[in-house]
Amino acid sequence: MTDCIFCKIINGDFGTEFVYEDDNAVVFKDINPKADVHLLVVPKEHVADLNECSEELIGKLMSVVKKVTVQEGIKSFKTLINTGKDAGQEVFHLHIHILSGNIKF
Ligand code: 5GP
Ligand code: ZN
Repeated sequence: MTDCIFCKIINGDFGTEFVYEDDNAVVFKDINPKADVHLLVVPKEHVADLNECSEELIGKLMSVVKKVTVQEGIKSFKTLINTGKDAGQEVFHLHIHILSGNIKF
């Protein structure tokens, strides 16, 4: 999607460093971290939110959560998915927050 910030990041438009990447998803650091570690797991396919996400894809994304936390040695963490504006979603390209250490929300 051309006007989607996360699609642009996935496309490499901003040179964002990926902590993890596979066929289905990328993981990068949140630009405004709410914890010592704040990562975003983002599907390569543009999916607006969890309501639009298939069971297959959410399963793959949760698998990425497990892989990247193992890779980064993160043992204690919170996962968060905001779905919809009223719930605080600001970027309408599905993402799973991973937060660890001094979590501010
Ligand atoms: P939401 O509120 O939609 O669940 O979370 C969106 C998150 O994306 C926020 O935590 C925000 O800091 C992060 N974010 C927004 N724009 C960018 C960006 O351009 N780069 C990165 N790395 N994170 C972003
Ligand atoms: Zn997108």
